[in-house]
Amino acid sequence: YEQAKALTFSEYGEPPSVLSLHGHSISPPHGDKMTLRFLASPINPADINQIQGVYPSKPTFTTDLGTPNPIAVAGNEGVAEIIALGDKVKSAGYKKGDWVFMKGPGFGTWRTHASATTNQVVKLDDTMREGITAIQAGTVSINPCTAYRMITDFTTLQPGEWFIQNGANSGVGRAAIQLGKKWGLKSINVIRSRDDKAAEDKLKNDLKALGADIVITDAELQAQGIRDQAKEWTNGGRGKIRLALNCVNGKAATAMAKLLSSSAHFVTYGAMSKQPLTIPASMLIFKDIHFHGFWVSRWAEKNPEDKIKTVSDVLDMTRKGEFKDTPFDQIKWDYETKGDELIAKVKDTLEGYREGKGVFVF
Ligand code: NDP
Repeated sequence: YEQAKALTFSEYGEPPSVLSLHGHSISPPHGDKMTLRFLASPINPADINQIQGVYPSKPTFTTDLGTPNPIAVAGNEGVAEIIALGDKVKSAGYKKGDWVFMKGPGFGTWRTHASATTNQVVKLDDTMREGITAIQAGTVSINPCTAYRMITDFTTLQPGEWFIQNGANSGVGRAAIQLGKKWGLKSINVIRSRDDKAAEDKLKNDLKALGADIVITDAELQAQGIRDQAKEWTNGGRGKIRLALNCVNGKAATAMAKLLSSSAHFVTYGAMSKQPLTIPASMLIFKDIHFHGFWVSRWAEKNPEDKIKTVSDVLDMTRKGEFKDTPFDQIKWDYETKGDELIAKVKDTLEGYREGKGVFVF
């Protein structure tokens, strides 16, 4: 029997009030069951929205973990090692020590151990895994995939063409900067301004070191004269800005759309400011800007093969040193770790201006 602990909730609400650390045991696996030991699971903004009950993909509430009332395990992304497996899992080509990540959202990854079946996981084969850390494997399937697909699936950018994005220091934004650079694209990157100007400059320089061509604050984006500046950056407007990636919404997103070339594409994937996206009709009618939404969960469900290929491409770049990790705040979780410490870290994620993304490391 494996002694497991999991961050669980029985009703939706703010994480500090609904989350609790639940201990249970997992019986030895038979048939199509395997026992997983988690290695690394990030805290993504969507995980928080899911606990609040405002995320479209819901977790599974179950009494399988030995509680009288159904509970769900939080967390959607992560990588785990197979520590025991039933006969059917063996004959499906899995072995002890293999690394797997979750096939889709809703599995519950904020836990030390879990019981799973083959249709809930995707195996990282040995070539994918070589030279890759658990944190890299545990964070590759959502943010980098999202950036990768948004840059390639809505329009075909030619080397030397531009895209613009807000939330540029987010996990997705940093991935977009690096992928864009690798593919010969130019980028204008918008971050929120900081009261601490030294910190703001450092952040700008960090993003430039990743491959960002231009980094400006949302205040700079909304200031007078930005159009002329954008013209200067893009060789008198000859370089076209043909794609926008929108993580934030609100006024800064509208301002970003105004810099796009005619017939460009504007893809919304996040809603960090909690403000609506407001678009002047002229942008649709006269400028022919195409507005889209992207959700990586839906894309991955429809394109499972492409998802593995995308992940494998990013891991290749990582292995070659061409794709750097987003800054992480590693949260050590072992059998002794108190629930309060873990829950405090989840709560921190709700605040902005953070130095790194929280990731549970087991
Ligand atoms: P991170 O946790 O890495 O970064 C959060 C980002 O949001 C930072 O850039 C932060 O900027 C910014 N931010 C925080 N609070 C606010 C605010 N009130 N107003 C404006 N910006 C804010 O995020 P991820 O990269 O993991 O995710 C970013 C967004 O993308 C989330 O909304 C997430 O749900 C979404 N997402 C969507 C996917 C999809 O398929 N549609 C897939 C992956 C992510 P600062 O440093 O200034 O606080």
